[in-house]
Amino acid sequence: MNPQRILEETFGYAEFRGAQREVIDAMVHGQDALVVMPTGGGKSLCYQIPGLALAGTAIVVSPLIALMADQVAALRQLGVRAAFLNSTLDVFEQRAIANDLRSGYLDLLYVAPERLLMAETLELIDGVEIALVAVDEAHCVSAWGHDFRRDYLELARVREHTGAAPWIALTATADERTREDIVANLRLRDARRFVAGFDRHNIHYQVALKAQPMQQLFNFLESRRGEAGIVYCLSRRSVEDTAQKLADAGYDALPYHAGLDAGTRARNQERFLRADGVIVVATVAFGMGIDKPDVRFVVHLDLPKSIEAYYQETGRAGRDGAAAQAYMVYGLQDVVRLSQMVSESDADEDHKRVEQQKLTALLGWCEITSCRRAGLLSYFGDALEGACSGCDVCDAPPVTFDGTEAAQKFLSCVVRTGQRFGAGHIIDVLRGADRPKIHQLGHDALPTYGIGSDISDLRWRSIARQLVAQGYLIADPNRYGALRLTQMCRPLLRGDSALLLREDPAGAAAKRSAKRRTREPAVELDAESAAIFERLRELRKAIADEQNVPPYVIFHDATLREMALLRPQSHAEFLGLGGVGQSKLERFGDRFLEALGES
Ligand code: ADP
Ligand code: ZN
Repeated sequence: MNPQRILEETFGYAEFRGAQREVIDAMVHGQDALVVMPTGGGKSLCYQIPGLALAGTAIVVSPLIALMADQVAALRQLGVRAAFLNSTLDVFEQRAIANDLRSGYLDLLYVAPERLLMAETLELIDGVEIALVAVDEAHCVSAWGHDFRRDYLELARVREHTGAAPWIALTATADERTREDIVANLRLRDARRFVAGFDRHNIHYQVALKAQPMQQLFNFLESRRGEAGIVYCLSRRSVEDTAQKLADAGYDALPYHAGLDAGTRARNQERFLRADGVIVVATVAFGMGIDKPDVRFVVHLDLPKSIEAYYQETGRAGRDGAAAQAYMVYGLQDVVRLSQMVSESDADEDHKRVEQQKLTALLGWCEITSCRRAGLLSYFGDALEGACSGCDVCDAPPVTFDGTEAAQKFLSCVVRTGQRFGAGHIIDVLRGADRPKIHQLGHDALPTYGIGSDISDLRWRSIARQLVAQGYLIADPNRYGALRLTQMCRPLLRGDSALLLREDPAGAAAKRSAKRRTREPAVELDAESAAIFERLRELRKAIADEQNVPPYVIFHDATLREMALLRPQSHAEFLGLGGVGQSKLERFGDRFLEALGES
């Protein structure tokens, strides 16, 4: 069957996305390929469709064992003959799959790398026609990358067992060097390279000042009841606290951190995956291998440690391509805390310096006055094509002001007090505060004492933060965030250069943060459609529970939204929905049509 028909009839989609069509053509013509596409870009179809179009079985290598069962369940719902082989199966299940494989019954076989490399598995595939080999998470083959796996290196050996079948390597993260490692280490032949940008167009980015984080979180969540999301915190304690407060406010929220016992962690993760609209409050321990497609938001209540980490963590939102939100609150205190953690770690000095630079880059990005999305992409050496699909800066460009004089005052005060104090004390001196500490230190006798009383405490804090973000000051982690001047200050102090600062929005906890601003796919549901959506979601959950699979295996949110809006009445109309192919129409069409008829 041709790829377009498979796309429509099996997967229920009308058009290919991005490079999918070209990749699939390369596969079908027996060419090797390397595919770098951001999460949610649609990598799976790049091998699933050729797997169905070509004779024989497609082998999909993936290290994410925990996901295989769900991935295969989702394919079976589409009527695809898929199976998986990994250490979670018992001997009988393995034997049954080996038989299916030998008889040529399987279209797709998912297999863990260590399993594929076993002599008996290789022997098994020797006797089978192989359509193609897909290596997912291919960056694991590079020692240069962060997820290096030794067994991935050995995968090239498998080539001797797969004849002329084309190989395709896929990953979401690979810089130039990692890409070449992948091609070399998997011994891809004349591989065509398909590299899509980093842009996650359906994620809306917003960063706000941390004022009252819990209140800010509540404001953000107000219009998002019933949606699944992740809230990241730095410490286990704040994870527990936050989860408790959310639960008290009636949210379905669960904690997740490395300090919880394994059973609780597994249970909470399972609920997040299986139930609708669960919020997980977590440390960074949560997320590896979480492939839930309908995570609608990722909130950071504390700063992550780098832009890379931020991109990866927020990247867990909106894998299904529907609108999602990344919301972060941060303050200078976060920076000091993280710097301290870097400096106290037992890494070598070079490593620490790099970590520190990464943190500064992140802070600079937080304070950016131009498009946040473009800034994120440019950090990865990528450019934004076309207009921004949504970020706080583009939604409401910040007002800037000439901060030269204020900055000069601030910097002189730092110098006068011996570069030994944090922002709080400096601001007290500038504002002429009447504090015992100031009198004891004799700082009330300094020429800078009280010269900044015309500027509010809040505004001074904003100025201090921006001076750090722009690299004029360093918050010394070894001395509790004591501020120190850098080389950059000279021209500014001499009056040779001016400094543009951004005006913080009035009231940092700005209510408007709660509003949805993404222009992307998710059409706002009117009240009636929203009620129908809820009912459809209940039906989906009931069916998912009957079959013991996560709800998104039945239908993605995007399909349910479309259903609630368009309210199809016939099989033909139902088939017209995105994500509905022949098999899902047969399996679920009548039950959903019936539910729609009752509304
Ligand atoms: P990746 O593996 O790159 O993270 P997936 O293959 O899981 O991404 O695809 C992400 C989402 O996009 C899935 O929900 C998938 O069904 C959907 N999708 C992929 N290709 C298309 C397409 N051509 N049209 C509509 N939806 C698509
Ligand atoms: Zn923007």
